[in-house]
Amino acid sequence: MTSDPHKLEALSTQLSGALILPGHAQFDASREIWNLCFDRHPSVVVRCTTAGDVIASIRFAREHNLEIAVKGGGHHAAGHASTDGGLLLDLSGLRAIEVNPEQRYAVAQAGLTWAHFDQVTQTFGLACTGPIVSMTGIAGFTLGGGFGWLHRKIGLGCDNLKSATVVTADGHLVTATEAENGDLFWGLRGSGWNFGVITSMGFQLHPIGPSVAAGLIYFPLASFPELVDHHRKRIPQFPDELTTWFFLRLAPPVPIMPKEWVGRPVAALAFCYCGDLEEAMNWKLELTSFAKPIVDTITPIEYRLWQRSLDDRWGNGFFNDWRSHYLDDLSAEATRILMDHVERLNSPLTDIKIAHLEGAVSRVAESATAYGNRNARFGLVIQTRWEHGLESAAHIAWGKELRDALAPYSTGRVYANFIAADEADRVPSAHGPENYRRLRELKSKYDPANVFHNNPNIPPIL
Ligand SMILES: Cc1cc2nc3c(=O)[nH]c(=O)nc-3n(C[C@H](O)[C@H](O)[C@H](O)COP(=O)(O)OP(=O)(O)OC[C@H]3O[C@@H](n4cnc5c(N)ncnc54)[C@H](O)[C@@H]3O)c2cc1C
Repeated sequence: MTSDPHKLEALSTQLSGALILPGHAQFDASREIWNLCFDRHPSVVVRCTTAGDVIASIRFAREHNLEIAVKGGGHHAAGHASTDGGLLLDLSGLRAIEVNPEQRYAVAQAGLTWAHFDQVTQTFGLACTGPIVSMTGIAGFTLGGGFGWLHRKIGLGCDNLKSATVVTADGHLVTATEAENGDLFWGLRGSGWNFGVITSMGFQLHPIGPSVAAGLIYFPLASFPELVDHHRKRIPQFPDELTTWFFLRLAPPVPIMPKEWVGRPVAALAFCYCGDLEEAMNWKLELTSFAKPIVDTITPIEYRLWQRSLDDRWGNGFFNDWRSHYLDDLSAEATRILMDHVERLNSPLTDIKIAHLEGAVSRVAESATAYGNRNARFGLVIQTRWEHGLESAAHIAWGKELRDALAPYSTGRVYANFIAADEADRVPSAHGPENYRRLRELKSKYDPANVFHNNPNIPPIL
C-alpha cells in the first residue's frame, strides 16, 4: 500500500523533512543502527525536522497499518530503532539545543547525541548526566534512566528531565511535566519510549568541570579481587563526586599499552572525579596504590573530552550482544566467575563493565519515577562484540553463559537500556512490581493499541 506513489506523495507534501525510500542515496545511512545484528529494511523512512513531521508520519503509519520504529541515536543494543517493512522515524534532523545559563536549564530536540549536548552545555560550564560514550542519543538514554560519570553527584539522566513534548499514539502533541500530564511524565522517566515520540526535552543542568580527574588504570586480571575487596570496604565513604566502573577485557592494542600486555586479560578501574582535583588524586592513590598497574591514564581532563574518550572503541559496524544484571555486592564467588570468563574471552572487542551506582541515584524514591532499581549498588553489563556475522552463535552463547552464571549473585533485576531483544520477559524486573503495574495502566491510557512496541515493551491491559 505504501508503494502507492499518490499516497506517499500526499505524505511528503505534509513534511518539512525528507521522505526517504529504498534506493534513495540517504536510505542506508538513515536506517543504519549501531548493532549490525539488526540489519533491517523499512519500507519508508521519514527524516523528521519538526514535531509536525512526527505527527504526520504517525498518522500515516497508522492509516496504512505500518509498524513504527523510532531512531534517536540508534544505540539500543536490542536493535529497537529498526523495522522490516515498517515506517522508520529518523529523528537525526531534530538537533536544536538552547541553554539558559542563569536557570541552568537546556531545551534540546530529541535527535541530539550526547557529544553535541555536552559540547554546547560545557560552553557554560554546565552538564547533565550522559552515558560513557558520546554518540548515544539523548532521548533513548534518558527515557530508560541513564547513568554514566555523573549519576552519583547529580542523579540519573531521567532525574534531570523536567519537561518533554510528546507526540502520542493518536498523533497529538502534548507537554509532560510534573504539573502537566504528570502521570505521563512519571512514565517517561524509565520507560519513556512506550508512550509516544518525544520531540524535545528540558533538562536541569549542573556546574561541572570544565576539568574532571578521569582515566583508566589497567591492572593484570589477577589484581581484580584486591581491587574489588578494597572497593567493598571503602564504598560507604565514597563522595558523590567519585564515580568508578570496573572494565574487564583483553588489553587493547592502543599506543599506551605495553606490547607484551596486548591481548592479555586485564582489569581496569575507570575513574571520574568531578570535584576538587587534588582530592581526586588522593582517592586514586587510595584505590589503586596496593597493586602495580600496567598503565595509568588518570589525569585532569576537560569533561567534554573525557566524555568522548571511549568513542573510538564503540563505533558502528560491529555485531553486539548485551546481557545485564544489577548486583548488590561483588562477592568473592561472583568475582571468580567473572575472572574465569575473561580468561576464556575470545574477542578483543568485548568488555564486561560494572558501574558503581548509589549516591544521588539512591536518594530518589523507587516510586518517584518508572526507573525503579534505586538501591542497587552495581550495574553490570556484558558487552559481547565481534566482527564477523558467522561467529555470532559462539559469542552470544559466551555472553548468555556468563549472565546465567552470575544470576544467583544478582538482585534478579535488570536495566531497561540493557535488556536484550530475546529478554522481553525481564522488562517487569526493570521497574519493580508496583511501578510495572502503574506502567501498564499508563500504557493502556496513552497507547492502548501498542503502536509503540519497538522498545522494552510494556503491554497494555487488555
Ligand atoms: C556504546 C554504547 C554505550 C552506552 N553507554 C551507556 C551508559 O554509559 N549508560 C547508560 O545508561 N546507557 C548506555 N548505553 C545504552 C543506551 O543508553 C541505550 O541503548 C539507549 O536506549 C540508547 O538511546 P538512543 O537514542 O541512542 O537509541 P535508539 O536505539 O535510537 O533508541 C532506543 C529506544 O528508545 C526509543 N526512542 C529513541 N528516541 C526516542 C524518542 N525521541 N521518542 C520515543 N522513543 C524514542 C527507540 O525507539 C528505542 O526503543 C550505551 C549504549 C551504547 C551502544
